[in-house]
Amino acid sequence: SIATRPQRVTVLGATGSIGTSTLDVIARHPERYQVHALTAQRSKEALLALCQTHLPAQAVIGSEADAAWLRERLAAARVNTEVRAGEASLVEVAQASEVEVVMAAIVGAAGLMPTLAAVRAGKRVLLANKEALVMSGGLFMDAVARHGAVLLPIDSEHNAIYQCLPPEHRGGLDRIGVSQLLLTASGGPFLGWSADALAGVTPDQACAHPNWSMGRKISVDSATLMNKGLELIEACWLFDAGPEQIQVVVHPQSVIHSMAAYRDGSVLAQLGNPDMRTPIAYGLSWPERVDAGVAPLDLFQVARLDFQAPDEAAFPCLRLAREAMAVGGSAPALLNAANEVAVEAFLEGRLSFPGIAELNEAVLSACAPSAADELEGILAEDDRGRRAARHHLERYGRE
Ligand code: NAD
Ligand code: MG
Repeated sequence: SIATRPQRVTVLGATGSIGTSTLDVIARHPERYQVHALTAQRSKEALLALCQTHLPAQAVIGSEADAAWLRERLAAARVNTEVRAGEASLVEVAQASEVEVVMAAIVGAAGLMPTLAAVRAGKRVLLANKEALVMSGGLFMDAVARHGAVLLPIDSEHNAIYQCLPPEHRGGLDRIGVSQLLLTASGGPFLGWSADALAGVTPDQACAHPNWSMGRKISVDSATLMNKGLELIEACWLFDAGPEQIQVVVHPQSVIHSMAAYRDGSVLAQLGNPDMRTPIAYGLSWPERVDAGVAPLDLFQVARLDFQAPDEAAFPCLRLAREAMAVGGSAPALLNAANEVAVEAFLEGRLSFPGIAELNEAVLSACAPSAADELEGILAEDDRGRRAARHHLERYGRE
């Protein structure tokens, strides 16, 4: 059944890779979805173009100067979008009463406050911003339950697992007969490389992902396997799983997006072309299904599916994430903060590729985690992790 009027959607991080894929799906279904607000941090030209196409009621950009620029251009183009600037405005468009759906596609810890605001306002929240959940895990999931938000994972692996589980899956994997979650990983651009070979890799090499086209931060995370580590933590929270119940399986074709293994020996998988519009369309339309513009999967073209174990010696970030989740408390928030500093330093040429894992490990061993059960504390731990990382950068960084 098609809704009688379109659902109103806020897209946080509209100019990014996930944001533009989301708008592509939305534009295919104008009778179902209407854009309420679009946000971006610095890409004012891209945001202007998106406003001209999607005619949102509101737009949010990082700085007042860029907001003024946008207002002028939109007025000249006779587009009626109200433009605001700054973090508080992100929170407002995420929780606005006229909004039904919020796509959380800001990258990194910056997405936590608006994403949590959408959860607390009881929205349908499409979660791409995995860092927000990694940082605030228990608090985030409690808020989902308390405020009746509908949380749909957009990360392709978690979306796949979601599709392979029964509709009511809260309360632990045991309750639903699942023995293990199999989280697939492409292995990234350096699959099969030795630790020695990794020492000299450049940001452009790290960002050239074989199967997915993504923002630079997540591309580096995919290359270090920190992305899979963050996803392991994300899966623990989303599916009430322990880190030992999740097995990472390297699957270079990225056709199986993840699997659930049941105690009777059944393994359910979700397959598809590696195109984020599939999980995005799933999140938008659940429990229905809509066309996502994705080509049908051609298994003869795929021809074969390969699997191997991850190389945790060459890519220590996966182990670090598993350890942080097992320790609990603020350890995942500290790791995420360190990693954001490390990736930025790597992208700016101030840290080597193996230095990312070294920095992350140094911060985890230097900072004893705390409880992380309230927001203030989590934000303070994020700050502490960043400060510790900058301190260690002086040791591991170049110059
Ligand atoms: P991106 O870099 O392409 O886009 C990020 C968006 O967030 C942009 O619109 C940018 O303007 C905005 N942004 C950046 N910093 C901000 C800040 N400080 N405050 C407010 N807005 C800010 O990133 P992406 O690849 O689209 O990824 C977005 C999120 O989705 C990440 O958390 C990523 O891990 C997750 N994700 C992405 C993919 C993918 O295929 N790209 C897949 C799974 C999950
Ligand atoms: Mg993923």
